[in-house]
Amino acid sequence: MSQRFAGVGVSAGRVIGPVRRMPEAIPAPADGAPLPEGVTAEQESARLAEATRTVAAGLKERAATATGDAAAVLKATALMASDRSLLKSATRLVASGTCAESAIWEAADAVATQLSALGGYMAERATDVLDVRARIVAELRGVPAPGIPDADVPFVLCATDLAPADTATLDPTRVLALVTSGGGPQSHTAIVARSLGLPAIVAAAETTVLADGDVVFVDGIDGTVVREPGAAEAALAEAYASRVSLPDFDGSGALADGHRVPLLANVGSGADAVDAAAAGAEGVGLLRTEFCFLGRDTEPTHGEQVRAYRAVFDAFAGSKVVVRTLDAGADKPLPFLTDDSEPNPALGVRGYRTDAAVPGVLERQLAAIADAEAASGAEVWTMAPMISTPSEAAAFAARCAHAGLKTPGVMVEVPSAAVMARQVTSEVAFASIGTNDLTQYTMAADRQLGPLAEFNDPWQPAVLHLIQTTCDGGAASVGGPKPVGVCGEAPADPALAVVLVGLGVATLSMNRRALPAVAAILKTVDLAAARRIAELALGAGSAAEARSLVRHELPELDVFGL
Ligand code: PEP
Ligand code: MG
Repeated sequence: MSQRFAGVGVSAGRVIGPVRRMPEAIPAPADGAPLPEGVTAEQESARLAEATRTVAAGLKERAATATGDAAAVLKATALMASDRSLLKSATRLVASGTCAESAIWEAADAVATQLSALGGYMAERATDVLDVRARIVAELRGVPAPGIPDADVPFVLCATDLAPADTATLDPTRVLALVTSGGGPQSHTAIVARSLGLPAIVAAAETTVLADGDVVFVDGIDGTVVREPGAAEAALAEAYASRVSLPDFDGSGALADGHRVPLLANVGSGADAVDAAAAGAEGVGLLRTEFCFLGRDTEPTHGEQVRAYRAVFDAFAGSKVVVRTLDAGADKPLPFLTDDSEPNPALGVRGYRTDAAVPGVLERQLAAIADAEAASGAEVWTMAPMISTPSEAAAFAARCAHAGLKTPGVMVEVPSAAVMARQVTSEVAFASIGTNDLTQYTMAADRQLGPLAEFNDPWQPAVLHLIQTTCDGGAASVGGPKPVGVCGEAPADPALAVVLVGLGVATLSMNRRALPAVAAILKTVDLAAARRIAELALGAGSAAEARSLVRHELPELDVFGL
């Protein structure tokens, strides 16, 4: 009999396929555990060498058939597995009476610590060493290796949640869909699924009972998983497979009546910006500058920052690039700037607030942005994250002016900034709503917690009301109307994009892969229809009701399988 599981759909698509479960993480062996009874050090060393050879050969084989990022990750890991010095140190420990598992664990720990201390590229290699160590221990124990499982046929990957290292080797031609029992709409799993275009459901807590070989229907639109699907699910998957393919984005977002809605991209590196420009993005609506700070123990130099920002600006010469100043803290901790002992980091010294705690970093960043702008042809707008009051907005605008940056703005992520939008936007040139944080703060639900995923949904009518308040505040700003854009994950949902425009949002910024779908659906409504649809969403009593009322008004969503 079929069985239904509810979760949160975070990436559209409907497929049927067999389950493969992500193996659990390998637990650490006991510290310095002795050689097993009756086993000599020579025998144990031979066993360890054999396990190491098998792991290296397996990784090399996979690297040879993989492409792109996956091939690079597998090659680097294979190289680490063949590293003689790692095996030598482990063998020395075996010779002194430690069992193979504990020896390789300890030896790899020492190598990883040394690499981490070197910083930069070498520090990133520490993860490869730890991955190799887990694979060797799995081989010694005769249990499945950690990481994405291998299978002859494409499968639905079920996991608790996926870590960045897991997803680097995720091959979208082998994985049909992702289902996690944990995670939330902004988890790494959700972000990766959207960027690969894989159907995905997160926070489906009950799916832990699914086992290898179970056949499931995954509905990333409705957020349901069905074990032993029947004819109805088969028909839905069939209809999805024969959907009309989306036209490429033509580089000019607009409604059916020609009302312009510039479609911009969220980017996190120079390479990202190049891809976004190639996808037709009309500019960058959110440059997450953390990419040049995260994972570092010290602040990047002026030159490093200028080079990093230039790489993005050069990809959008002649277009708008909205730079968000450093947003450290909470989900983006930075050792030299944030205090990891705070009891509530999301409510702590984060975003713009870090400037008061550690003065200088923001000023130096603004100087680097200004120098990068001067050397490029991009039209640079600069905004601060986590602004809560009009006086913070005014202080930030003054900082920008001092640095020679002409277009200062604020992110509206805190409900107080939304409620005070008229006064806040009066101090700056524009506002951009960060729906990820605005949702977590409106609903008082940590965006990183899977069990709270239902609250962390930008379709929550309370969030939509605050977006409308922000747009109204921007329109009534002292000195004339100020544009209000949105740059959180919300605009990537084409149905929600229509609602946002109906609420008064001027520009939408999203993952570049969402551009064709959003552009196609915006073209099916005029401004009057978008406003009427937005009213329906505002009047709903729940996120689910808002979503379903709006989807009902947009029949083209089904045509395109969105
Ligand atoms: C947001 O909060 O919506 C946002 C765009 O910022 P981030 O996701 O980087 O916090
Ligand atoms: Mg944010």
